[in-house]
Parts: sequence; structure tokens; C-alpha cells
Amino acid sequence: MSFEIKSKDYVGYIKKAAAKIAESSEYISKLDAATGDGDHWANINMGFESIVEAADELETMPMDAVFKKIGLLMMNKVGGSSGVLYGGAYISAGAKIAGKEALSSEDLCLSLETMVNDMMVRGKAKPGFKTMIDSLYPAVETYKDALKNGLSDIETLENVKHSALDGAEKTKEMAAVKGRASYQTNKGIGHLDPGAVTMSYQIECLCNYIIENVLNH
Ligand code: ADP
Ligand code: MG
Repeated sequence: MSFEIKSKDYVGYIKKAAAKIAESSEYISKLDAATGDGDHWANINMGFESIVEAADELETMPMDAVFKKIGLLMMNKVGGSSGVLYGGAYISAGAKIAGKEALSSEDLCLSLETMVNDMMVRGKAKPGFKTMIDSLYPAVETYKDALKNGLSDIETLENVKHSALDGAEKTKEMAAVKGRASYQTNKGIGHLDPGAVTMSYQIECLCNYIIENVLNH
């Protein structure tokens, strides 16, 4: 274990991700208009706005409580599949790291793994179904491999970030099995999945935040 994420760090990351999501309004809405009902950006953006509003309170909490609170905000304030999936994922990650004030790299990996497992069960979806899971799942696999192989923190985080971004990119050629894109005759083939793209933004911001603000600080 060579780095430690405290609540203040996680909130710092959330603010970066919220800004990235806020500025991608047109792009994400266009993606969801092509394969879904057009509201994915509004849903996820509302979720991040509500977390940022709670930032001061979140910074004073231990990490397990931070995850639980984020989960409840997502669950209660965000519409669509995203609210339920992110809400459930965060609540279950909070339970998995119960009692933890801060997160080691191993704890962070375990949290992300718990999140994707919860999403797969709750959404009855697997990798390859053209959903947000197609960004998070490969990122988690890469993270586990990196820890097993003893990669440096910077290499680990760079690899995790690239797996998340590549995973989102690969949804373009996938045929949707779950979510609204699966109702289309062509199953959304040729279009990126908006949920996978916003997931990749979050993982990108998380990895960048840790690299820039947590490592060697
Ligand atoms: P809705 O599907 O209710 O319109 P959103 O617009 O908030 O919800 O989010 C759409 C995104 O949610 C999709 O792009 C996809 O990534 C993800 N998604 C939809 N259904 C599922 C599911 N069953 N499992 C995992 N992810 C899903
Ligand atoms: Mg939608």
C-alpha cells in the first residue's frame, strides 16, 4: 500500500468529475438521443451536482460513510437506470469497506470491484451488453492484475484509466442486450453507449486526481 485516499481526496475527485460531466452536456445527450431516451446526461449531471452540494459534509466523514451517502444521493435524486445502478453500487461499496476511514490502493480496487459486481446483479447485465459495465469491468480487471503483478501506483492508475476509456470505446461495435438501446432494431451498433462514456470519464478523473494530487503528496 503506497497511497491513501481520504474523504477530502474523494471529494476533490468528485468535483473534477462533476466539472467534466457538466461540460459534456451536448455530447452525452446526443449519444443518448441516438440509442436511448436522451436523458442520461441530465441524470448523471444531477447526481454529481447533488454530491458536490454535500461536499462540505462529505469531507468530514469516514470513507465508508462517504460511499453510503453518495449512494443514497444517487438513489434518491437521480432518475433512470443510472440512479439505481450507481446508488446501489456505492451503497454496496460502502458496506464492503465498513469501518475504513481512508482507502489504500487495494481498498480502492475492492470498492470498484464491489461496485461493478453490484451493477451486474442489479442490472442483470454482463460485460459485452453495451452498458456502463463495459467501461468499469475492464478497469477493475486491469486494477486487480496490476496489484497482483506489483506495478507501481502510477503505472497501475494509468493502466486502469486506459482500460476504462478503451472499454467505453469498444461499446461502439457492441449490440445492446440490456438498456434502451436493446429495443432498437440495430441494437445501437455503430454508436457509443452513453453510460459507458460517462463511466469512463469518472474513472479517468479518479485516476488523474490520484496521480496529480495524492501520489507523493
Ligand atoms: P435509462 O436507461 O433509464 O434511460 P439513463 O439514461 O440514466 O437510464 O442511463 C442509460 C445508461 O444506463 C445506458 O447508457 C447504460 O450504460 C446503462 N444501463 C441501462 N440499463 C442497464 C442495465 N440493465 N445494466 C447496466 N447498465 C445499464
Ligand atoms: Mg435515459
